[in-house]
Amino acid sequence: MSVTQTIRDLSELLPVAQQACRLLFQECYKAGIQNIFVTETYRPQARQNYLYEQGRTRSGPIVTWTKASRHTSRLAWDIACSSPAALYDAALLSRVGAIARKLGITWGGDWENNIDRPHFEVKNTWTMPNGYKLEGQVIVPSNSKLRVQLIVEDNTEEDELMDKGALFNPGSSTLRESAETYLAQAVTEGIIQDSHLKDFQNNLMTGDRLFGLFLTIEQRRSTRNSNTFTVTGKSELAALFKRAYEQGIFKIDHSGNINTMTDGEINSLLAAYVNRKV
Ligand SMILES: [Zn+2]
Repeated sequence: MSVTQTIRDLSELLPVAQQACRLLFQECYKAGIQNIFVTETYRPQARQNYLYEQGRTRSGPIVTWTKASRHTSRLAWDIACSSPAALYDAALLSRVGAIARKLGITWGGDWENNIDRPHFEVKNTWTMPNGYKLEGQVIVPSNSKLRVQLIVEDNTEEDELMDKGALFNPGSSTLRESAETYLAQAVTEGIIQDSHLKDFQNNLMTGDRLFGLFLTIEQRRSTRNSNTFTVTGKSELAALFKRAYEQGIFKIDHSGNINTMTDGEINSLLAAYVNRKV
């Protein structure tokens, strides 16, 4: 790890700081702020020393006032703003700072000397303040292209899909595996709860529920990404359609046309597929 490299992974912070940072981003999202992202989290001591030397024993402007930063103890993170705001838009950072203050998170903009508006930190005794909780999956961007997101599970919608119809029991083990991989991927992305995957693995998944899950997953993915079916999703679909053709479920091989098909066309094909298969 070079001293000039920055670490942006939230997972490099202590769990308490990860939780505080997620809460901050959630509350920003709820306040309508989506254009902020993390620029640095954990900073090894060697890098902190290197930054401290800048403007002192090495040329360049002073960028830090201490060798004992909470970044090195995995309790601090820096943020920046993305378009349409300027990278370090003081007004926007101050709005985030005001939200942090309410949450018991220290904001560098409140420091009387050495104001550091992009900087946020907590003590390792920080706890979630009364009346707050993480309400869903909080997407904390680590680059300017992503937006802050809060994805709240709508359980009732999924619960309705339970216990209806015949169990999903495909003749081919390949199809079974690809359905399992597909669900596991959605769990990893935080789109559905892992109880669905467990039920699938325990042979408790009905065909109707699986199809409903498929629609839910694709819908949520498309809300999350502006481009609807993801690249991974598309290549999986291509593989699925290819097999469906080989197995005679489809008379035409649709696998080569995925990229030019509309989502509606893909969904209709999938509905036909599930219908013929179940
Ligand atoms: Zn900082």
